[in-house]
Amino acid sequence: MENTILIQGAQLVRDEGITPGDVLISGSRIAKIAPAGGITPGPDTAVIDGRNRILSPGFIDLHCHGGAGGDVNDGDPEAYRKMEEFHRSRGVTAFMPTLSVDPMPKLEKACAMVRALRQEDAGGGAEILGVHFESPYINPVYKGCQAAECILPFDEKAMHFIRQNSDIISRITLAPELDGVLEAIPELRQMGILVSGGHSNADAVMFRRAADRGMTMATHLYNAMSSVRKEGPYRIPGVLEAALTDDRIYTELIADGHHVPGELLQIAYRCKGPDRFMACSDASRAAGYSGSERVFICGQEAVIENGVGMLKDRSSLASSVVALDTMVRVLAEKAGLTPHLALRAVSYVPAKAAGIDNRKGRLAEGYDADLVLLDEKLNVCSVWCRGIKSGGK
Ligand SMILES: [Zn+2]
Repeated sequence: MENTILIQGAQLVRDEGITPGDVLISGSRIAKIAPAGGITPGPDTAVIDGRNRILSPGFIDLHCHGGAGGDVNDGDPEAYRKMEEFHRSRGVTAFMPTLSVDPMPKLEKACAMVRALRQEDAGGGAEILGVHFESPYINPVYKGCQAAECILPFDEKAMHFIRQNSDIISRITLAPELDGVLEAIPELRQMGILVSGGHSNADAVMFRRAADRGMTMATHLYNAMSSVRKEGPYRIPGVLEAALTDDRIYTELIADGHHVPGELLQIAYRCKGPDRFMACSDASRAAGYSGSERVFICGQEAVIENGVGMLKDRSSLASSVVALDTMVRVLAEKAGLTPHLALRAVSYVPAKAAGIDNRKGRLAEGYDADLVLLDEKLNVCSVWCRGIKSGGK
């Protein structure tokens, strides 16, 4: 007998806006959606009172390194479980565990770990959407907090590593201006890998050339990327301006209230609109971590100050220390988005960017029962991953 759950009378986040309704979960899927009071529970149906609550599609994080002390690069299933549990408690029901720059054998081990975890996935946890390989093939000028000594050229060895792991890599971040990248984009796409430009010093012409060849995303907009510069009497737009104005490009923003100020969030939203603007956590192991030991982010000692991680010399921010639920609230408070649009930026848009909007990212019949119940202040109350209540309070 499959479990059936009825969430009654919640404010449902639908494509067109937020409207009250009932949602029936059967097994791992959404079986039925109806106006409030429209579904009568059967004798074995668990009934949840959703009144005064918002029911959103589960959050989808396409850029997440760690949490609760664990980091994907550790290649340690225990560390992974800690981070997964933390983000799930904050409403994340599917995500791409994200590698950061490190020696290649470590990255190989981390890929093997994620592969094994995905194979043994029995539901109940946040679904692994494959690895986001925030790769060492980046421009040192915009390395951000990535370790300079591990940055590599994009050569045959790079393609060999990617081919070997193409079953588990779903997204790659790289700098399109590196030798060999433009030519490789069609093959990366053929392998089913989403190509995302980031940590890049390209100009807008180069960035668009990469988009012509199949690049569809920009990694953490505003952070670690070129923007307009002056050459003689002329202004030369960079990655930022190209990503903001090219409608083919999905842009993710680290909306923790520190990496990108409110005005810049607003500019991005006005340029990208409700179908291309999304938030990612880019969370490090320091997210949700309450231990007192020293914290290392991207292999370098970091400090946590005022709710954000930064390198010890304060030269660069180093990933966020929050999950997507905080970003929903920041988008509402600092970017002026309605709850509907803020929630869309962490559910529908990332699902669309990842090409899984036929089963995730919307409240719709037949879709995965990945759901988050929030109070009116947008705090997470309950979480269901593929029909199993598995996080929140
Ligand atoms: Zn990152």
